[in-house]
Amino acid sequence: MSNLYSILEANFPADRSACAIESRGAGEPLFYSWADLHHGSGRIANLLAALNLPAGSRLAAQVDKSVEALMLYLACLRAGIVYVPLNTAYRKAEVEYFIGDAKPAVVVCTPANFSWVGKAAFCGGAEVVYTLGDDRGGTLLDRAAHHADDFVTVDRADADLAVLLYTSGTTGRSKGAMLSHGNMASNALALRSLWGWHLAPDGTPAERDTLLHALPLFHIHGLFVAAHGALIAGAKQIFLPRLDPAAILDLLPRCTVMMGVPTYYVRLLAEPGLTPERCAGMRLFVSGSAPLLKETFELWRERTGHVILERYGMSETVMNTSNPYDGDPALRKPGTVGPAIPGVGVRVVDGRTDQPLPAGEIGDIQISGPNVFGGYWQMPDKTAESFTADGWFRTGDVGRLDDDGYLSIVGRSKDLIITGGYNVYPKEIESFIDEMPGVAESAVIGVPHADFGEAVVAVVVPRPDAVVDEAALIAALKAGIANYKVPKRVFTVDELPRNTMGKVQKNLLRERFGAGAD
Ligand code: ATP
Ligand code: MG
Repeated sequence: MSNLYSILEANFPADRSACAIESRGAGEPLFYSWADLHHGSGRIANLLAALNLPAGSRLAAQVDKSVEALMLYLACLRAGIVYVPLNTAYRKAEVEYFIGDAKPAVVVCTPANFSWVGKAAFCGGAEVVYTLGDDRGGTLLDRAAHHADDFVTVDRADADLAVLLYTSGTTGRSKGAMLSHGNMASNALALRSLWGWHLAPDGTPAERDTLLHALPLFHIHGLFVAAHGALIAGAKQIFLPRLDPAAILDLLPRCTVMMGVPTYYVRLLAEPGLTPERCAGMRLFVSGSAPLLKETFELWRERTGHVILERYGMSETVMNTSNPYDGDPALRKPGTVGPAIPGVGVRVVDGRTDQPLPAGEIGDIQISGPNVFGGYWQMPDKTAESFTADGWFRTGDVGRLDDDGYLSIVGRSKDLIITGGYNVYPKEIESFIDEMPGVAESAVIGVPHADFGEAVVAVVVPRPDAVVDEAALIAALKAGIANYKVPKRVFTVDELPRNTMGKVQKNLLRERFGAGAD
């Protein structure tokens, strides 16, 4: 294979004047053709190539979502510079950490953050700092405007590093996952056929899919699943800068595919305007990055007539499993993330021996395939311990395969609770608690306990106007599950702490409620 950009570009529609991206921000919508994408990324690639950076140099970008931000990523691919996307929520200490770790030669930040990101960049050894606003302002595009549109995309081998993608930092400090051109190309091609993207090499807009893109561009979901998916299918995208339920409802009738984290679906369900009519033209709703509650899955089907397709992936491996697209939507099993996607190996093993377990048994999830990353950036020990002797990647997630090969994620191994010698899987207890009257959602954690080693503790969010009684909930659980699994304490909170990808931050809950179980 070759440079990922060349593979994407080979699938752009023949009619390059067709709309590739419609960008809907605060002002009037902006329309970008396929030629605009190619030329815009070409100009930036020329600017970057003129810096004459040594092979393997990195560019870190902490910029707001815009089509130009996507062009910047594509320009890095084309010029052979390693792209390092940074979450826009990161503040000074975090940006300093990532710059210190990745040591980028070039940093791109928003004009508003230039004073502090620029300082962190130069202190961290960056040679150049550009700015890019969400309104096409800033020095990056000013400088690029002096360069030619044409750029010959550099050759790259499958194994060459394309992106340094920092993990979300849900279980600890973020790690830089080294993803190659081949990792991402293999995944994008597999998902293109698996999810039935409508290909129209002749570029007829009516035949193509339209992707509603409301996810951030600094994370695997928005950049590598959503944007790659549309680019490699020659499909149009409609960019929304962020989750905006009213705007999504307005746009759904013009779209065919949407991807979101579970929170997106929960927020949309709260909109009275969500109706089957509005979703009549849609063919696919995808959810991932965090567990989709069965309740959300069922409510979505009742309200829209569509069955959400849940899939499972991670920064280190892009996508691993997906519920089926083809055939009967009933084959999408709620509470599972589906079977392995074609070309990817998924196994559930005994974590002590790395030996596969029979269907139905809970164990560590391991992955192999062309999607698996090359290792963690400058963490050789961490990389070595993340692979088995026979080359499988230890995901850190715990789950079970059913007889049909569908994977269910039970939690993360770091969240596994061992109480009095027994293993307790938080997801199992959370599912019971979520069914209780008055409960909106819950998180079950293990906290230090003098006698048991760890004690099970539940943190519960009541439904609006409901009161959750600790003693009553514990009594109800005792009637349904083994005593050792029943939480010793139940705490009530208004909302669970989540990071920007909608993932519950159990480490924060353990810090807050850690002393409460004795
Ligand atoms: P860190 O590795 O820094 O602790 P993180 O694992 O949250 O952070 P990501 O790579 O962004 O960082 O997220 C991957 C993880 O997200 C997976 O390992 C898995 O735990 C979770 N995940 C992804 N999709 C799903 C899903 N459909 N259901 C449940 N969990 C999911
Ligand atoms: Mg992780």
